[in-house]
Amino acid sequence: MADPTESLEVQRARDSAFGARRLLARLRDIMAGSGSAQDRLDKIVKTIAHEMAADVCSCYVMRAGEVLELFATIGLNPDAVHKTRMRVSEGLIGDVAARARPIALANAQSHPNFAYRPETGEDPFHGFLAVPILRGSRVRGVLAIQHTERRDYDEQEVETLQTIAMIVAELVATGELVDSRELSVANDLVLLPSRLEGISLHRGVGMGPAVLHRPQLTIRQMVADDPETELARLKLAVDGMHSAIDQLLIAVGEIEGEHAEIMQTYRMVAADRGWLNRIREAIRSGLTAEAAVQRVQNDNRARLQQVSDPYIRERQLDLDDITNRLLQHLTGRPVDAVGGTLPDEFVLVARNLGPAELLDYDRRKLRGLVLEEGSSYSHVSIVARALDIPVVGQCSEVLSRVEPLDFLIVDGDHGQVFVRPAEDIQDTFAKSVQARYRRKQAAADLRDLPSATRDGVAVQLLLNCGLLMDLPHLQSTDAEGVGLYRTEIPFMVRPSYPDVDVQQESYAKVLDAAEGKPVVFRTLDVGGDKSLPYFPDLDEENPALGWRAIRIGLDRPAMLRKQLRAMLRAAAGRPLRLMFPMIAIVPEFDQARRVLDLELDRLVRDGLPPPATLKVGVMMEVPSLLFQLDGLLPRIDFMSIGSNDMFQYLFAADRGNPAMNNRYDLLSPAMLTVLRTLARRCDEAGVDLSLCGEMASRPLDAMALLGVGLRRLSVSPPAFFDIKAMVRSVDVGELARYMDHLLVRHDRSLREWLRAYARDHGIQI
Ligand code: PEP
Ligand code: MG
Repeated sequence: MADPTESLEVQRARDSAFGARRLLARLRDIMAGSGSAQDRLDKIVKTIAHEMAADVCSCYVMRAGEVLELFATIGLNPDAVHKTRMRVSEGLIGDVAARARPIALANAQSHPNFAYRPETGEDPFHGFLAVPILRGSRVRGVLAIQHTERRDYDEQEVETLQTIAMIVAELVATGELVDSRELSVANDLVLLPSRLEGISLHRGVGMGPAVLHRPQLTIRQMVADDPETELARLKLAVDGMHSAIDQLLIAVGEIEGEHAEIMQTYRMVAADRGWLNRIREAIRSGLTAEAAVQRVQNDNRARLQQVSDPYIRERQLDLDDITNRLLQHLTGRPVDAVGGTLPDEFVLVARNLGPAELLDYDRRKLRGLVLEEGSSYSHVSIVARALDIPVVGQCSEVLSRVEPLDFLIVDGDHGQVFVRPAEDIQDTFAKSVQARYRRKQAAADLRDLPSATRDGVAVQLLLNCGLLMDLPHLQSTDAEGVGLYRTEIPFMVRPSYPDVDVQQESYAKVLDAAEGKPVVFRTLDVGGDKSLPYFPDLDEENPALGWRAIRIGLDRPAMLRKQLRAMLRAAAGRPLRLMFPMIAIVPEFDQARRVLDLELDRLVRDGLPPPATLKVGVMMEVPSLLFQLDGLLPRIDFMSIGSNDMFQYLFAADRGNPAMNNRYDLLSPAMLTVLRTLARRCDEAGVDLSLCGEMASRPLDAMALLGVGLRRLSVSPPAFFDIKAMVRSVDVGELARYMDHLLVRHDRSLREWLRAYARDHGIQI
């Protein structure tokens, strides 16, 4: 038997859907009717107030200078129309505009942000519900209803008013209420040169005219006559989109592995039934299919603002990407239309972007990327870094400040963007871009020169990689191999834990691409700041000191076993090097090694060829290991210093905490003494030592590393030639003697001493 309470709810939902549909149909008739835009807006507020049984309905429209003007009202004093104005952020209406989010209050007058405007005659009203009038990512006004009594607004009412606001947005966008030129011309803020701040997501400088990522598609019809027809259109578009995604997957999969992996998440998101059901519901409430898709996307965006978990945001972002694709299928605009009309070089500006969307653009023309959101976690950042495109993220105002084809400079080194910069700024940056280009060209000439110091000491330069896309750099730099292959990146961009076959294929591709050069695979280093979408959120008090890296591997041996099995199989008789991250005690190494040995036995039992040679190493990241070198060194073939983590543990200073930024320095007597000890001990024990933390990629720091005895550095690909130029310009014997003297000092940092030394000795840092 049916649950009586449930059937009541279903009944209510049907009634309110019907009510919303009736209201939308009325509004559509008003929109299509005769009369000026002002007349139509007047009728609209009247109809809303009537259908939603409200005492007041008002519409505020955005004017030049970010001012909201009361354009129409029923219930408030009509004399206030075109007189009452408020700035964005001022009062409750301004708050709705500033945050682009609805506000529902049982008693508005007791709210601290309530701004009393005597001319409106607002005194008798308490219940207050206001929603932003949004078009694209811009707020074009605010729509509000009020009730005399104190009352709580339910979700359905908020939803209905949001849907209506979409229709009002179309009226505002016609330019009949406020001339659209007013907003672009009179707003002198927009036209002046400006500098916007964000954060650097990838370094480098790029410039060119702005291309706004997929400006809002114009939805011509918002209200539908027949929901069934719209549902059928939706189904057709969803099917079309699915097969297009499959095509893209096939095309991308043939070229680059991880792109395809990222795209796999799309397939999952695109098939999300909750999402499709919400769109269907919006259609049943009277919207056309495209308006319904847009409506659900608006909701998602609003929700997104409130979520801080980067992985949930990531998933929402995928949904945004899919939404755009679906809209294109519904409106019939071809998905690849983006290619035809682009300038020869351009800077892409977006609120946020899916990785596949970035790949839709011709990367040869792309000079930079600016995102209103974005974090270094986002898939798009990983892809942009692999493509070496300068990226500035969290540039919160960029979409409201930049018009299409405005000239932009993206300064990825300092996390800033110049909009319509003055000529002298353009010249300065153009010179810097040219100088970089010349340096790159000159650096490329270094490719075939030996990597040795002036006094003839060979220095092995390797690359840090984490994506297949990084591997072509082995060829362009002629690096001697991969000193750190971070296996976690492919794990982080996948929707689920990859099984042995998938991993094996991925590692085999890496080894194929390395063409016989050595590759050091690091086993999964997750936890801490790197979490997996499908892994439980541990909510640890001190994640950097928590359950991470090999600790997870040893506690969940199935994961470690599978990864080692995949690596052994991928080697297929070729040499294999692998290392374990975050080892803190010798028994952890022994335990990991036992898992490896068991897998090796299994490989042989399965009749598969063992690696030609197997070298096993550890990451030196946890300082406790420094005091176990006697036990450790005889057990390992090589050691790689993870200076990023080692530094933070040595000084007990969170590497991500800005308050710690200048307190301690890598080039301090303590850190450099530790490194010198390691170099000496490994040398005596015949253990290969390298360093793969960020410091190896900075010329001055890398110079100091040579000075304390390191001879193997693993660097990020863009830094390779800078480091090689430094190596070739240093006399390392002389530097080592100088540093021996320096290390007895008790300074906070030896950086300035070393910089002066480099300057005096013509070392390229
Ligand atoms: C390090 O800690 O220095 C290192 C290379 O590892 P990751 O940066 O991946 O933690
Ligand atoms: Mg580390």
